[in-house]
Amino acid sequence: MIEENNNSAIQLSAAATASIEPMVILQVAIDVPLMTLFDYLPPLDAASVEWTQGMRLLVPFGSRQRVGILMGIAADSDHALARLKRVDAVLDEQPLLAAVDLTLIGWAAAYYQYPIGEAIFTALPPHLRKKSLKSPQPPFPKGEEKPIDQSPPAPLLQRGEKEKPPLEKGGLGGFDEKKAGFELNPDQATAVSAIHAALGRFQPFLLDGVTGSGKTEVYIQLIAQVIASGQQALVIVPEIGLTPQLQTRFTSRLPGVTVVLHSALKASDRARNWEQATLGTATLVLGTRSAIFVPLPRLGLIVVDEEHDMSLKQQDGFRYSARDVAVRRAQLVGCPIILGSATPALETLHNAQRQRYDWLQLPRRAGVAQPPKISLLDIRQQPLRAGLSMVLRERMQTELAAGNQILLFLNRRGYAPVLICHACGWIGNCPQCDVRLTLHLSPRKFWCHHCGRVQPVPQHCPSCKSADLRMIGRGTERLEEELQPLFPDATIARIDSDSTQRRGELKRLLSAVARGEVQIVLGTQMLAKGHDFPRVTLVGILDLDGVLYASDFRAPERAAQLIMQVAGRAGRAERPGRVILQTRHPEHALLQSLLRSGYRGFVAEALREREDTELPPFTHLALLRADATDALIPMEFLSEAKRLALALPETEHIFILGPAPSPLVRRVGRYHAQLLVQCADRMRLQRFLNQWGGVLQKLKRGKDLHWSMDVDPILFS
Ligand SMILES: [Zn+2]
Ligand SMILES: [Zn+2]
Repeated sequence: MIEENNNSAIQLSAAATASIEPMVILQVAIDVPLMTLFDYLPPLDAASVEWTQGMRLLVPFGSRQRVGILMGIAADSDHALARLKRVDAVLDEQPLLAAVDLTLIGWAAAYYQYPIGEAIFTALPPHLRKKSLKSPQPPFPKGEEKPIDQSPPAPLLQRGEKEKPPLEKGGLGGFDEKKAGFELNPDQATAVSAIHAALGRFQPFLLDGVTGSGKTEVYIQLIAQVIASGQQALVIVPEIGLTPQLQTRFTSRLPGVTVVLHSALKASDRARNWEQATLGTATLVLGTRSAIFVPLPRLGLIVVDEEHDMSLKQQDGFRYSARDVAVRRAQLVGCPIILGSATPALETLHNAQRQRYDWLQLPRRAGVAQPPKISLLDIRQQPLRAGLSMVLRERMQTELAAGNQILLFLNRRGYAPVLICHACGWIGNCPQCDVRLTLHLSPRKFWCHHCGRVQPVPQHCPSCKSADLRMIGRGTERLEEELQPLFPDATIARIDSDSTQRRGELKRLLSAVARGEVQIVLGTQMLAKGHDFPRVTLVGILDLDGVLYASDFRAPERAAQLIMQVAGRAGRAERPGRVILQTRHPEHALLQSLLRSGYRGFVAEALREREDTELPPFTHLALLRADATDALIPMEFLSEAKRLALALPETEHIFILGPAPSPLVRRVGRYHAQLLVQCADRMRLQRFLNQWGGVLQKLKRGKDLHWSMDVDPILFS
């Protein structure tokens, strides 16, 4: 009896303690494919820990330990307390991610239907995803960390300072133009002052400037002002290849510390640059897609350059659009964002037309450069040599004789895209994909451009043993070989992902072109991206039809962007440029509108067409993809997913198309299928996807089946 009494006394006192100290439940995001957070109890020796959102914790999960991120603190859990495990260790004294960063990632995870834990760990640099490495320094200076709250970090400037009239008459807000050494033309000055006036608050801008109109100069002047006011700027570019030249331009003109962030950096450099960004010592961060999530304690301006570029959208795993996340980030932080392009995406132009974005235009090329003349060349029934019509060859001779440079664009690398047996018709296909193997001759390989599988080049037909194997079609490698005898005196440079694989090779080729040592430059779309070729006066696009007739509804938009981007490489100095498009479809309506009234005219036409066909930006799409080693399984899964979707309560105005096999059905030995969801109202679509996602998570399926959701898809292969 006495013992019993004692026990109940102990129980009573434990209960009394619990009621005095509020229960602390730590809500932790873990890098696992589940949409939820996980509840943990603090470790026993954690009395002195000041729990702050964004700290990394080491937690037991299943049979192993995992790194988690503290997302929130609650007084209660939906689970029985006795079943909750304790955190093993606290990895950071200070939070690694600020509240505003977690809010952004949380928003992106929800919007793109991706597990929150995996989203956060995608956003962290690799060295911080592991438990072995502690962050070497607190990422936020002590005393500046914030307790859990959802508000964005306070701007560094005092309110009074911010509201100082930004512009003195004729000048640019105290920014020393002379020091910058570059004068702005009236269009640039208008853009700079409009954006300058928006510093300190959220405002999206579309900087719609033709190639060579000086968008970068606008960025530089504004970033200089942001740095001068003690804030940081973030510039996102689509391609790693574009960072070196931009970095050079930025560092030569801007004070402070510029760091780059992209996946090709050495791990140690990436870790150091990330730290400089998060500590606030870097004043400018220049990065590719994933840099959109880097914590910046004093962010004052975001720039997304080449905002139309497809590579701003991640195509696997966490399928976010860095451009769209950037707009959301600017809104959360309360700063302006500039979306810059010579060929804005239809979505962005639509937002500008509806005045959701402030539309700034730079319609003129800087200096005396003339816009290039674009003409269509009907090559139907024309004899071609090396893929070049006689008209184009003669034009090339004229330009070469005048000492000018020529650029030829062919969007296919390798030697020949098809190897066929002349005896029996056998064609070299990838054994794992519905893709033909491309023949490369230097080095010799038979290569699947989709899965990367490489096979030896066959000497005899594997089917009938005939030695008469023939190459059909032409890639850049073959074009280079065939051009030389046609233009024996010209030096030719090929720029594609094969010829520039060696470190420093792209730079070497580009500077040889710049020095005038090369007369003909040929290459793939690498040529269209940002590199300047001021001595080029003639651009030939050899096979436009291949781009124009790609399989999805965005193909004409991409073709128009490509034409304008490639055309933008020509005639940038005093020499006027000419662009010749070889096509078998000169009557194509969108091509005609592009030639008649430029990109603007094309956009008007293309938007009308999208509205008629109820496609983005007039509706919003999501693609549910599934794949398995058996062709039937993804179709069955998607049929069941569709049935469950239609049974949900809010499916009004939600249209579900499919399931259908993907355009490229078999890839790396797996069969792909998809289901397309369409809705005119973005919020409604989001509500539907949230409900549906929950149902799909619970749907029973074989281990072999993979599925993923792609919100705002831009590729449908
Ligand atoms: Zn054969
Ligand atoms: Zn393959």
